[in-house]
Amino acid sequence: MRIVVKVGTSTLAHPTGQLNIRHMEELCKVLSDIKNAGDEVILVSSGAIGMGMGKLHLRERPKSLPEKQAAAAVGQCELMYTYDKLFSEYNHTVAQILLTGSDVRDEKRRSNFINTMERLLEFGTLPIINENDTVATDEIVIGDNDTLGAIVAIQCHADLLILLSDIDGLYTANPRTDPDATLIPVVTEITDEMMASAGGSGSAIGTGGMHTKLTAAVSVMNAGCDMVIANGKNPSILYDILENTAVCTRFVGKR
Ligand code: GLU
Repeated sequence: MRIVVKVGTSTLAHPTGQLNIRHMEELCKVLSDIKNAGDEVILVSSGAIGMGMGKLHLRERPKSLPEKQAAAAVGQCELMYTYDKLFSEYNHTVAQILLTGSDVRDEKRRSNFINTMERLLEFGTLPIINENDTVATDEIVIGDNDTLGAIVAIQCHADLLILLSDIDGLYTANPRTDPDATLIPVVTEITDEMMASAGGSGSAIGTGGMHTKLTAAVSVMNAGCDMVIANGKNPSILYDILENTAVCTRFVGKR
């Protein structure tokens, strides 16, 4: 299987922007083990801006674009340094790929990306992808890593995209405000109703990020790839996802 795993800043860093050592160590251990078992793994990792905040001792997330870009430049180093160190402990070699919207929209650059990815996977490396936040401006930005994860999964013909988030999956209503909300384990079709209730703030199913996740699910499912939303607070959930026993939402790709 070719698996794309996307992790968000909330899994990788504490609210202070400092590294969440326990989560990162666990994540790298589980991903190494999954690779050892024979699957191909591609990691889409956020955390550049968050970790830059920690390194630069910024108390809150920067607001201006140049500040965000500077924080990302600092944080991306920290992120890759940490991944390189942790994956090396399990004898895995990482590779860094930074993309912007224009890289995936331009045919030539997109095909360069795909060829490089194929070669990296043939070499047995573990590619780690993030948006190139230091140069991404409004016109060329992909914007969020759920969308980036979907682009990577589709372009690399992955079998499965896993979005590790701070919520267990897609609920029938917002679980933070509605005690009757129940988790939807399997989705074969994204309905307008799901989209609408994931959209508005306040009434969102789960957190604000659910709308981008559902939009990602539509394109991933149309490409014939499955997608899972699961809680990243315990990265060993990845084993359960692969064995189909996890508490999560699975979106079934059209075949
Ligand atoms: N590229 C951003 C970062 O690494 C994160 C974007 C996202 O999490 O959606 O800080």
